[in-house]
Amino acid sequence: MSYQVNEKGYYGEFGGAYIPEMLYPNVEELRSRYLEIMQEESFQKEFKELLKEYVGRPTPLYFAKRFSEKYGTKVYLKREDLCHTGAHKVNNTIGQILMAQKLGKKRIIAETGAGQHGVATATVCALMGMECIVYMGEVDIERQSPNVARMKMLGAKVIPAKSGSRTLKDATNEAIRDWINNPVDTHYIIGSVVGPHPYPDMVARFQAVISEEMKVQLKEKEGKEDPDYVVACVGGGSNAAGAYYHYLDKPEVGIIAVEAAGKGIDTGESAATSALGKPGIIHGSKTLLMQTGDGQITEPYSISAGLDYPGVGPMHAHLFASGRGEFISVTDENAMKAGLELAKLEGIIPAIETSHALAIFEDRKFKKDDVVVVNLSGRGDKDLNTYIEYFNL
Ligand SMILES: *Cc1c(COP(=O)(O)O)cnc(C)c1O
Repeated sequence: MSYQVNEKGYYGEFGGAYIPEMLYPNVEELRSRYLEIMQEESFQKEFKELLKEYVGRPTPLYFAKRFSEKYGTKVYLKREDLCHTGAHKVNNTIGQILMAQKLGKKRIIAETGAGQHGVATATVCALMGMECIVYMGEVDIERQSPNVARMKMLGAKVIPAKSGSRTLKDATNEAIRDWINNPVDTHYIIGSVVGPHPYPDMVARFQAVISEEMKVQLKEKEGKEDPDYVVACVGGGSNAAGAYYHYLDKPEVGIIAVEAAGKGIDTGESAATSALGKPGIIHGSKTLLMQTGDGQITEPYSISAGLDYPGVGPMHAHLFASGRGEFISVTDENAMKAGLELAKLEGIIPAIETSHALAIFEDRKFKKDDVVVVNLSGRGDKDLNTYIEYFNL
């Protein structure tokens, strides 16, 4: 059994492209061309060069000595927080803007919730001198004003979504409407391993640079390419997909996915999709999602904006359903403590999303000689106010 996508765009029973008829030409153009374009030598050369010179890759694989001592195992941190813009998201937006150029597109659209993906998209549009339109819920625009300012500085136009709950899902609807109306000149940059096929696979391939580097770095440091475990937090699942990618079909490498339990799985304020979700369709993909008995999507909650999503990508739904992945959920409280702990033990302030992955070591014990790689998806600068309020700093 393979845990990669199959030719029809499915991971097990999950994935596919459940889209309105009017969107079919756009998605089909991308589906029929993405692999061939990604495999072109000129594409690979440009992608690798930008990752090196602009993003700052390879990111270090850092042995966290004091953290390891505390938890009695060998913990390495894959430092995606050191990427330009402070998180892994830019790996994907670099890949997709090159894809858009190869497809002859002139205009980029994106949707954003907390604004992180909007900033990563606006960044690469500035880099390439392309028009950038970011849809964002009106409520989110108020809540995330620093990211709105960043996008504006980078030259993007931020358009408020004013319908429904005026948050991420409404912004997504607006972006889809725009794409339907502009099928020829516009590329839609989706920010995680979600959406209709081929997005989950395409985004996973762009993020796969994370595990590609891990293999080389582990070989240097441990004499073998494979860790015993790879740990990552999962919102939509893109940093996790990149960290797992080259280990998916190696059963000897344990895969650990960490979701946000919010205030607790049973409190009604959670984003622990594997624990609470059922199969359903969201953003054009069949996957696990949190929903009511009659199929209405449940409003998710997490203290971290990046994990506050009611579904997971289809790769992760399959890793869960097949038992290949071990899924753990972590509360706001435990994540916040783990973030503070990493700051004090290693001098690294992680994003609150990432803090969820770091929190598992309290309860999930590893052997002394286990090599455990945690994907440090992002840095905590953007979360400073949340840390300040939470700990009265
Ligand atoms: C956006 C974000 C996430 C969640 O997104 P994934 O697609 O699940 O990776 C995690 N960590 C950071 C730092 C983020 O910015």
